[in-house]
Amino acid sequence: MPRYEAFDRYVEARLAAWTDELVAFCRIPSEASNRTALADAAGWIAERLRRLGARVEVFERDDAAPLVIGEIGSGRTLLAVQHYDVQPAAPHELWTTPAYDPQVRGGRLFARGANDNKGELLARVWAAEAYLATIGELPCRVRFLVEGEEEGGGANLGPFLDAQPWIREADGALIEGGDIDLAGRPRITCGVRGMASLKLTVRTIAYDAHSSVANLVPNAAVRMVKALATLWDDAGLPAVAGLDEGVRLPTPAQLAVLAEVPDTDVDDLLGVYGIEQFLGGRQGPAALRALTFDPTLNIQGLWSGYTGPGGNTITPAEANARLDIRLVPDQQPETVERAIRRHLDDRGFGDVEVSVFDYQYPAWWTPPDDPIVKAAIRVSEAVLGKPAVVELSGPGTAPMSVICADRDLPTTSLGGTDDEGRAHAPDESIRLDHAAAAVRMTGRFLDEFAAIPPGIGAAR
Ligand SMILES: [Zn+2]
Repeated sequence: MPRYEAFDRYVEARLAAWTDELVAFCRIPSEASNRTALADAAGWIAERLRRLGARVEVFERDDAAPLVIGEIGSGRTLLAVQHYDVQPAAPHELWTTPAYDPQVRGGRLFARGANDNKGELLARVWAAEAYLATIGELPCRVRFLVEGEEEGGGANLGPFLDAQPWIREADGALIEGGDIDLAGRPRITCGVRGMASLKLTVRTIAYDAHSSVANLVPNAAVRMVKALATLWDDAGLPAVAGLDEGVRLPTPAQLAVLAEVPDTDVDDLLGVYGIEQFLGGRQGPAALRALTFDPTLNIQGLWSGYTGPGGNTITPAEANARLDIRLVPDQQPETVERAIRRHLDDRGFGDVEVSVFDYQYPAWWTPPDDPIVKAAIRVSEAVLGKPAVVELSGPGTAPMSVICADRDLPTTSLGGTDDEGRAHAPDESIRLDHAAAAVRMTGRFLDEFAAIPPGIGAAR
């Protein structure tokens, strides 16, 4: 392995300029609803990858955000799976400074996308830049797969890849980012949860009624909340029979990995979210086990009637809710949809329509003893100087199965976001020293990845 002194000095020297670069990228409001901004963000990252020296191709499809592929180096191929789209920044009034006017405060850069995923994406680009500048040719091929529909929609990624099968031809993949826990330990996650997202709709009357007749005509919002209330028990935990159909039982080896995760890893979230206890009174190992092995059932939003300025005394004719369900191996999105449908029918809510909202994909887990995971552990421990916490799966989701399942690619996380980064929420941020650490880890990881003998690993 090369020595990294010059590499690390380069990272330190370049961090201020790189921060400016991240600021520029985060100024682009690349939310799913903003087609112009999505195109701008795709163009921005394509240009940045070209400046790195990568061969870049931008793929377009009708009604799809462009897919940007940038490739540099030769040898074993590492897919860096990233995205340039961001979650909506609304509600804007909850941001301390505007979401798309990035600001540095207390060593953190605040902006929508600062960590998810523009910061983590650029850290990978910066690592390749630093490697080329201080060590030489990259020891492996890095193929940046930068999509624009990770946070919403997402139906186009599969067709994009089916049309360009070479993109999936790789030896391993990096999940979009990685974590550093509140104690400064790297948190390596070997996979991601899957996702089923559903829309519920109920219509009760022909059109919104004058609310003077509210005692006579059925209110769609009331109907919806009554239906929704049946989906959870009094502790707030899912109460849908069959929601867990297909869930693979934890193996003793998996439970052993889980037992090594410090309780604080999950219990710290109490402080982060300002709560006294988790749902069902779970704590420590029980909370961690739920976070790892249980599917979720979440209302991501619900709407009905009038909530604008002034009053509007109507009895709503229609009510809607969006659910998202995070999936674990080997659940299938369709099974979950059927379980919800059956549950509502059994309780007399046949009038509540269930439809697929946007993206649907299974979980993707790599065994923690895979060489790609071990490489991520070694480099993150080397950079941060603390033992890694290894998790079977991150609690979040990414379409890794869409990318990796064909060739059974092993995956790992690697990066520098933390539990205070507020991904998807107001005041999203990335710690700049963690971003620099992510660059240093990634530079070292390229050598570790290149050194993995062919044909090793990837047996799920
Ligand atoms: Zn993301």
